[in-house]
Amino acid sequence: MLSYWEKKSFTKYDIVVIGSGITGLSTAISLKEKDKSLNIIVLERGLLPTGASTKNAGFACVGSLTEILDDLNHHSKQEVIELIKLRKDGLDILRNRLGDEAIGYFENGSYELLFDSNDYRLLKLNSINEMLFPLFGKTIFKTIKNEFGFSEKVELLIESSVEGEINTGKMMFSLLQKAYSLGIEVKTGFEVEEILEKDTEVEIVNKQFSLKAKKVCVCTNAFAPKLFPEIKLKPGRGQVLITKPIENLKLKGVYHFDEGYYYFRVIDNRILFGGGRNVDFDTETTTSFELNNKIQADLEEKLRTVILPQQNFEIEHRWAGIMAFGETKKPIIKQVSKNVFAAVKFGGMGIAIGSKAGEDLSELVL
Ligand SMILES: Cc1cc2nc3c(=O)[nH]c(=O)nc-3n(C[C@H](O)[C@H](O)[C@H](O)COP(=O)(O)OP(=O)(O)OC[C@H]3O[C@@H](n4cnc5c(N)ncnc54)[C@H](O)[C@@H]3O)c2cc1C
Repeated sequence: MLSYWEKKSFTKYDIVVIGSGITGLSTAISLKEKDKSLNIIVLERGLLPTGASTKNAGFACVGSLTEILDDLNHHSKQEVIELIKLRKDGLDILRNRLGDEAIGYFENGSYELLFDSNDYRLLKLNSINEMLFPLFGKTIFKTIKNEFGFSEKVELLIESSVEGEINTGKMMFSLLQKAYSLGIEVKTGFEVEEILEKDTEVEIVNKQFSLKAKKVCVCTNAFAPKLFPEIKLKPGRGQVLITKPIENLKLKGVYHFDEGYYYFRVIDNRILFGGGRNVDFDTETTTSFELNNKIQADLEEKLRTVILPQQNFEIEHRWAGIMAFGETKKPIIKQVSKNVFAAVKFGGMGIAIGSKAGEDLSELVL
């Protein structure tokens, strides 16, 4: 039972944000930037964010050529351009808000590995460059030779001049510090069980406790259906591994292949390699953080035969994170009911989009 003091000082807020991933923290920060007087709390079920924001690969990416071409098969040209713009705008907000040093941002470009130098998709390279020119003011894709020491199976690479990398841990730490510095309260270990909308307020209920707020923002991404079963998204697990430090590793930048289903980068002289969801889609449609041995073995095999064919390496660590997908790649950023708002469904793009999603959600709320 709560004391009089607890009830007076710890249970009433102007805005409750649920979820302390990049979207939840960015939403809270955008709200506070617009109105300093707001009393905002972010509720997080884990001791750390427990979704994707601290589990990803940290690619500051707007999309590889084959990913964009695949998107054009499922979306209109305008939708694809809007999605890329969202990614670009989100990264701009994140970088301006926290600074490149604080998020470990480097723009070393990105490279897509192609296994066939006659790949039919290369015929579209110029038209995609033309499509994206107005957005970036420059030509972004060009082909280059495989001079990276990858297997000879890699016949060609496509370089993108507009992609960068982020140190995910530093970025999320800095975002949290930014929220604290603005006076935003963040409470961990608070799993919201239910949201009860009343006339003029919303009650946010967990097993021990309930809070009241004028408005609620749901930023729980793949876990949103637990609070709103009608929301249209499916979870998608992402598997990752990281090697021990490797001597004389000369790679720089970030790399993708197979429409972005596989991605790797260098961090602290190690290779961080993730993806392979397409190897076992059914099993990976889950909110469980377990490792999938089939995919981990596939990643290891590709690391040995494609990425580091000449080098010995040892795997130091493996983990998984949970993303959210839908029929289209467009995120859901909307008013759910009178005082409840949501920003969810970011696929493999939430590090790029999260800050813009938070900004857009804050505009809907205020
Ligand atoms: C392996 C992997 C690689 C990726 N690589 C990239 C990349 O390179 N570039 C990129 O842009 N994106 C990437 N992504 C995607 C990106 O990480 C996500 O889209 C983004 O982190 C989503 O952020 P979010 O804040 O919306 O959700 P999340 O980070 O999932 O945050 C949601 C939070 O809500 C909390 N929560 C859930 N339910 C409740 C509840 N009932 N009560 C309280 N709290 C709750 C969760 O614990 C979680 O912390 C990758 C994702 C993965 C898994």
